[in-house]
Amino acid sequence: MTETISPATTERSLTDFSSFNLHSALEQALVHNGFETPTPVQQRTIPASLTRQNLLVSAKTGSGKTLAFLLPTLHHLLVNPNYYAGTRALVLVPTRELAQQIFLQCQQLLEGTSLKAGLIIGGEDFKKQQNLLRKNTPVVIATPGRVLELLTLDTAPFENLDTLILDEADRMLDMGFSEDVLTIAKQCNENRQTLLFSATLTHAGVLKMADKVLKKYELIALNTLRDELPNIQQQIVLADDNAHKQQLLAWLLENETFEKALVFSNSRLQADALCDPLRAKGVRAIVLHGEMDQKERQRVMRLFRDGVVNVLIATDLAARGLDIKGINLVINFEVPRNGINYIHRIGRTGRSDETGLTITLVKHTEWNLMAGIERFLRQSFIRRNIKELAGKFQGPKKLKASGKTVGGKKKTETKKDKPEKVKVRHRDQKNIGKRRAPKEKVTAE
Ligand code: ADP
Ligand code: MG
Repeated sequence: MTETISPATTERSLTDFSSFNLHSALEQALVHNGFETPTPVQQRTIPASLTRQNLLVSAKTGSGKTLAFLLPTLHHLLVNPNYYAGTRALVLVPTRELAQQIFLQCQQLLEGTSLKAGLIIGGEDFKKQQNLLRKNTPVVIATPGRVLELLTLDTAPFENLDTLILDEADRMLDMGFSEDVLTIAKQCNENRQTLLFSATLTHAGVLKMADKVLKKYELIALNTLRDELPNIQQQIVLADDNAHKQQLLAWLLENETFEKALVFSNSRLQADALCDPLRAKGVRAIVLHGEMDQKERQRVMRLFRDGVVNVLIATDLAARGLDIKGINLVINFEVPRNGINYIHRIGRTGRSDETGLTITLVKHTEWNLMAGIERFLRQSFIRRNIKELAGKFQGPKKLKASGKTVGGKKKTETKKDKPEKVKVRHRDQKNIGKRRAPKEKVTAE
């Protein structure tokens, strides 16, 4: 798994669709339908997708995700024609209505080309849809249930697939399509490109599905963490060293109010080392190991679930797939290795209308990693001081007057003071999401 998110790209000024050098038929269709300025998710996704890499894209509903995947996918098919390949692009969506909507948009874009699109959804004629696959329809938009039914009858219709798109993956998971999607994905060409779209990243199953279906991918996250998890407070507490961190951890577990707490460490050894000192202080803690056998793991989980213990110490690996209600405090004893792990960890708390608190303990060697995660998530964490245990490390020293940080790049203000602002010029922004009146259709006869 790779994550490459460059904050610079969010500040890039907005250009128009012609900068992507799309196939002329697509360019004409965009003009014809009044699409002028790409939305931010289109700005980021289209060029990345044109390089044929796997992408996980999160952006709110209404942000323009449909064109973000249709344009690069159709462009690829148009510039690399292959009339005998069968289905070359498959879009899986949760509902029939959505499939119909995407189908229409697809047809609009393909007007004037010989590329055909087809719809495979429940409630419509089965035979016709079977024929559609047999006739090698290059672009198929479908709901998972009906595709599975057809797959039991047909032999490998997706073995030459160039692109698999999972749209509204979070909703597909909510609707119980997870297994179906995985089964279909397994029957698709292994060398395909896969694009996964979701309105949220913090949905429990989305990252898991991405790991299974995309394996290696680039993440394009348009939402800030605050958009995604408004009920979870994100704090950092600075620490001098691990001994200081242990004192802070014990203090937090003794002084915070919580039902259940999850403590993360980056290594199993560290997780082990944390448990006994906490127990000695009367904290009801237990460690969950990655290598525990199933029986032992279940015993630990039961103790935690039933509230016999209320603090679970775990590594990222051990906590995979953990689904327990009532966790409203997550403490990162160490800064997680990357932003994805951070999301995995905090995704365990503050679900739906519950509130939660995440506290990350940061020592000087972890400062840059933490700052990177803040940039990645486009959110500044709240700096918290615990007076009783104040340490020496107060963040990177500023060189007076120059505004430089020691060992870091020039900064005019520290991250912790102000939330990061994304610069978007008003004149660039005012056209986003608005559509120009469609141009009169000119037909030369
Ligand atoms: P999402 O899938 O992210 O919920 P959609 O792709 O359905 O969003 O797009 C939402 C609306 O925005 C649609 O009506 C679509 O036609 C419109 N739209 C998408 N991209 C643009 C754009 N670049 N300029 C103007 N309108 C757009
Ligand atoms: Mg959509």
